[in-house]
Amino acid sequence: MQQVVDLIIREFKNNLNLFVLLSIFFAIETIWPYFKFKQNRSIHTFRNLGVLLFYLVVTTPINYIATAWYGCIDTEKFGLLHQFALPSFLRIGIGLLLMDCGDYFYHRISHRSNFIWRFHKIHHSDLDVDSTTAFRFHPIDNIGLVMMEMFTALIFGYGSDTIAIYFLIYLPLLFVQHANFRFPDKIERIFETIFATSNFHRIHHSYPQHYTDSNYGAVFSFWDRLFRTYQKADPKNIHYGLEDSQTDDQQSLTHLITGPFKSSR
Ligand SMILES: [Zn+2]
Repeated sequence: MQQVVDLIIREFKNNLNLFVLLSIFFAIETIWPYFKFKQNRSIHTFRNLGVLLFYLVVTTPINYIATAWYGCIDTEKFGLLHQFALPSFLRIGIGLLLMDCGDYFYHRISHRSNFIWRFHKIHHSDLDVDSTTAFRFHPIDNIGLVMMEMFTALIFGYGSDTIAIYFLIYLPLLFVQHANFRFPDKIERIFETIFATSNFHRIHHSYPQHYTDSNYGAVFSFWDRLFRTYQKADPKNIHYGLEDSQTDDQQSLTHLITGPFKSSR
């Protein structure tokens, strides 16, 4: 029993930056909300945090395996980038681009594959997008992504340092992308030339489907311009969610966890 308690305390400390950021963004959204909620916000928060808890429980062992995997790539110097005498900043920089490009393509495939979409649509079906939506991911969706990242890391040879820096950028950006408050338009425009900003990602959370199937970039926005999946729209004219997931039953915590195992798409 003591070991379980120790594990929970350790995991809480590991995820402390996530909880701190979530509390800060949630407080700002409460004071200066951009869009008015369609659902009851307390119920919405309870459901999304329920999904987050389920996600953390399932993905924690996988993250331990992934950490050991990246450590092994470092020590054994596996992969393409380790075959050249590159300075670390260049190896990390190329690693960040390769990792984000891999995430872009995995994300694109997750919208095309019926099997992955069943799990990924849980993130898209939210009718109100806020900081809690940033972690409304089904763990099966994440397992596929982590496996793809482990595979590309092995092939290209980016390891623990690249992964650590990637998540240092990605975690706060994930909150910014889902935050229900308005950033100054000028700041959005400048940052969007390189990064996947909140207005950029809002379109990805909108229907009709051609909006949903656009703006896949996780950290960088230029992949979408390069591979022709970029869309632009006025945030005031967008509608969050998916056309086929509008009922309250489809927003219940039970459905968010078990629904993907029952549906065909
Ligand atoms: Zn998506």
